[in-house]
Amino acid sequence: MKKAKILRYSILGAVLGGTMLISYLHINGGSIYPSVHAVCPLGGLENLWAWFAGQGNIQKLFSGTMTLFFFMLIFALVFGRAFCGNICPFGFLQELLGKITKRKITVPKKLDKVLRLGKYLLLAVISLMAWTTATLWISPYDPWTAFSHIWSGGELFQENGAGFIILIVVVGASIFIDRFFCKYLCPAGGLYGIIAKISPTKIKREPCINCEKCANVCPMNVEIEKESTVKSAECILCGKCAEVCPEKGSKVGVFIFGKRISTLLFVLLTVAVFFGSILVLDAVGLMQVTVPTVASVQESGEFLKIADLRGSMTIEDGAFYTGMALDAFYELMEIPRSVPADTQLKAVSQYVPGYDFHAMKASK
Ligand code: SF4
Ligand code: SF4
Repeated sequence: MKKAKILRYSILGAVLGGTMLISYLHINGGSIYPSVHAVCPLGGLENLWAWFAGQGNIQKLFSGTMTLFFFMLIFALVFGRAFCGNICPFGFLQELLGKITKRKITVPKKLDKVLRLGKYLLLAVISLMAWTTATLWISPYDPWTAFSHIWSGGELFQENGAGFIILIVVVGASIFIDRFFCKYLCPAGGLYGIIAKISPTKIKREPCINCEKCANVCPMNVEIEKESTVKSAECILCGKCAEVCPEKGSKVGVFIFGKRISTLLFVLLTVAVFFGSILVLDAVGLMQVTVPTVASVQESGEFLKIADLRGSMTIEDGAFYTGMALDAFYELMEIPRSVPADTQLKAVSQYVPGYDFHAMKASK
């Protein structure tokens, strides 16, 4: 059981570290590294709604974001919320914060029940806003986006000020309420939970000594002691209940299609399937989440349209990627020549008050 715990924490730590590194590279190295939006499966859902509404593609997203979204649906269908328990970096961050103190706030049951609906409500609002506005409406308020942008210094407050305040609330609350964001606010978790209802992967509790240790340790407060098969959409398959079971051979465990699988094997299986599938999808060209590299544009001669430009590109990049002369690009984008060419397009407003890169690009 210990091995499963060590493996799980190692993977979660690596994913959290890896996503922070990619965010850092995106902010400082530009669009050849994926943004947090491009690799958010929920963005794929928002894009889908925008498409259905005939609004076209949402800015900041790529075809790979859609692939990721559909992949996550299949993953949740097979493995329930194993992504939340074994892979999600924001979930892990909350888990780490929860270790700061053992003193926890017990949210009254009735209030807890109502608050847990928050994530479904947010999922509905995000879908509605994507349908009507074709934007990532939640982005400025998203604490994970804010956390991923901690490298951007002062810009963080300009672009993600509200998200940063919400992040502080989430961080504070996660210390005293296990997985506060997962329980009450995460729309992605809400979506996976709905799908997990029909997943063949479940926690089961065989007749046992009813010590209730499993229930006491559950970070999602699933009432596992009341069920023989956990059907709750709140179970993130973290395996903590199985870890503490004092019964010889553990009476609590993960079952797939009714067959028991050890927690260690389950962590290995889900992580291997998750990252293995992403590697395969990438190899067959279905995981495009960044703009093409300079070298590939040079080689293919296929330039981007103005609509495909990203705010993280510099003015120089913009001219290069669209195949225009630098001066012509300045003129087309109505950027005064005094703005340095290595300025990111989204940062032109720092030199030209009121300049809105996205509105300018949409007008071309
Ligand atoms: S509920 Fe959301 S934040 Fe929590 S682990 Fe799942 S996807 Fe991550
Ligand atoms: S029931 Fe077990 S596997 Fe599910 S969230 Fe609780 S501790 Fe984790």
